[in-house]
Amino acid sequence: MAVEVTCYGGVNEIGGNKILVRDRDTKVLLDFGAGFSEGLDYFSSGIVPRPVNGAGDLFEFGLLPEISGLYSESALQNTTLKHTAPEVDALLLSHYHFDHTGRIPLVDEEIPVYCGETTSLIHEATSESGSSPLDKRGLRTFRTGDRFRVGSIEVQPVHVDHSIPGAYGFILHTSEGAVAYTGDFRFHGPMGKMTMDFISEARKAKPIALITEGTRVSGGDKKQELGEAEVSRATTRVLKSNHRLVFSSFRGNDVDRVLSFHEACVAAGRRLVVSMKVAMLLEELKKDKGLKVPEIGRDVAVYLRRKGRGRYDDREYWKWERRFIDDGVTAEGVRKQQDKILLHLDQWYLPELIDIKPDRGGAYIHATTEAYNEEGERDEEVIRNWVSHFGFAYHQIHASGHSPLSGVGDLVNQIGSESVIPVHTERPDLFAGITKRGEVVLPVKGTTIRVGDGTGTNA
Ligand SMILES: [Zn+2]
Repeated sequence: MAVEVTCYGGVNEIGGNKILVRDRDTKVLLDFGAGFSEGLDYFSSGIVPRPVNGAGDLFEFGLLPEISGLYSESALQNTTLKHTAPEVDALLLSHYHFDHTGRIPLVDEEIPVYCGETTSLIHEATSESGSSPLDKRGLRTFRTGDRFRVGSIEVQPVHVDHSIPGAYGFILHTSEGAVAYTGDFRFHGPMGKMTMDFISEARKAKPIALITEGTRVSGGDKKQELGEAEVSRATTRVLKSNHRLVFSSFRGNDVDRVLSFHEACVAAGRRLVVSMKVAMLLEELKKDKGLKVPEIGRDVAVYLRRKGRGRYDDREYWKWERRFIDDGVTAEGVRKQQDKILLHLDQWYLPELIDIKPDRGGAYIHATTEAYNEEGERDEEVIRNWVSHFGFAYHQIHASGHSPLSGVGDLVNQIGSESVIPVHTERPDLFAGITKRGEVVLPVKGTTIRVGDGTGTNA
């Protein structure tokens, strides 16, 4: 009996991982995300799949696999796929990024979702300040060192370094040998050692298959080769050389980035001011003893947007926002201390600049990935227009959440799996050139790969 691996997403694309592993009668799903470029031929220009139609709008264009015993009754109510009792035993979530979580709301609530304790805290904070893809399900949490059993499979989660806390890879000890899955990883973040821990555990397991990401395995990697420590240093230089307002947009759940910017602020005598959503997340993550998180009020201040009728009054804010009002910094407050602040302002909050009325000559730090498609390029252009309208300088300072090609090659060769299945990459074909041992098996969407019977080929 071989172990079967079927990739329903993350095939020749970045993100959208949906990988089903079957060992005897046990089926586990590794992530269930939404791909970044998935379905853009139909769903773009403001057209989105209607949540009310469950999986129906995605099935229409073949954007979601029609797997029996996976979806909830409501997800299938207007489709030809019949709802049955769950046939998938567990969903193992590697980390809380949308390209790994995005389709979970459609999964049957009876199927248990396993995630790291930190992911559960991020979910709690996100859920309170909006909505989370993990809403309405009981989560079973783990930490590195735990092992748990799902049918014939013993699951060993091992932490990895990535651009969100609580990221894991998995080693699935099946009846035919180990199948390792990296999730998303890098080595150049503050916790790069965690990825080394994953490599060493995976190597010990002598895997029959390694399912690895390869976001930056590409013909020409144009992204900057900055580590997170360099982000902090480069930001410090911008903060010190500028005597006006500095603002930045970055993914608020990238706690390493919040820390880098906080560090830069300390070095340059400024104060980091974050949105309420980020403040909410930091408050929640304080519960995680394994994380270093800046303290709201002491280390980091909160930006107070005008809402409702525009008064800074409790009644204008959601309940979860009210705790931040007393220590909040208003637009006027930012204007009065422009040279003392680094303001976190995501692109959808750029109109706040109209209230802040900053002096010309400030700086903007674009601390996110560079655009990878036309939509992203258009977004960047709009940001540049705002930045130049207010007379600010534009800086790109970012460390990727993913390892470059050389690091992926190191991981693959150190683990030394019998077969290597590249996912979460646009160039799986390049893995043959970086894999010294083991056979590279290129996944085909929805086609089962059999491993562990010495073949490792597409069935
Ligand atoms: Zn990720």
